[in-house]
Amino acid sequence: MARKFFVGGNWKCNGTNEEVKKIITTLNEAEVPSEDVVEVVVSPPFVFLPLVKSLLRSDFNVAAQNCWVRKGGAFTGEVSAEMLVNLGIPWVILGHSERRALLNESNEFVGDKVAYALSQGLKVIACIGETLEQRESGSTMAVVAAQAKAIADKITNWDNIVLAYEPVWAIGTGKVATPAQAQEVHAELRKWLRDNVGADVASSTRIIYGGSVNGANCKELAGEADVDGFLVGGASLKPEFVDIIKSAT
Ligand code: PEP
Repeated sequence: MARKFFVGGNWKCNGTNEEVKKIITTLNEAEVPSEDVVEVVVSPPFVFLPLVKSLLRSDFNVAAQNCWVRKGGAFTGEVSAEMLVNLGIPWVILGHSERRALLNESNEFVGDKVAYALSQGLKVIACIGETLEQRESGSTMAVVAAQAKAIADKITNWDNIVLAYEPVWAIGTGKVATPAQAQEVHAELRKWLRDNVGADVASSTRIIYGGSVNGANCKELAGEADVDGFLVGGASLKPEFVDIIKSAT
């Protein structure tokens, strides 16, 4: 099954009203391949979601960077999946390594979040990836398989999931994985999906790469058979994000 190229922009905890409007102007004026060819989703901080949604071109979509694990209520500081749906936000990023590391989000907690978000009708960019120490000790595949399993254990339908392989050592470091390193893990992950979830899910689920992707390195990475797009942090705040979108063709 053909997998449509996917490019996500994770703005993380960045931006002012003025900066956000500037980024949107750049995106709105950009000439990029049609939405039949590439799916583009930008993820601003919660506070800017309504602004971005109202200004952004209609062929691009918006994602939140997180949501609460269950129905909303007495959870001070959290934002629920229901609220995102109510605002018309179609996507959410879950399991980002910064949240796993800094906020102690476990594999099981991420799996619960993914399941709840899907149950409310959100589409999910689910992030997994190994640390440098884990890579150097040869446990990359065991780590990402355990992270994928914690999600697979909680869901039955993969239609609304994009899996983002984001090696922690490559995030925000300028040390991008080589195309061969990315392809190796993506192919293994696809095999893991085939063996543990099913052949259809394995062939249809988009596995995107994240970690220091920029306008200069995207094209080569995009050429790998199992790299179905990117999740982009730092470069998604810059005009070169448009070049990354264009790497779809
Ligand atoms: C990310 O935060 O998801 C990411 C991939 O960041 P960067 O592109 O800055 O490495």
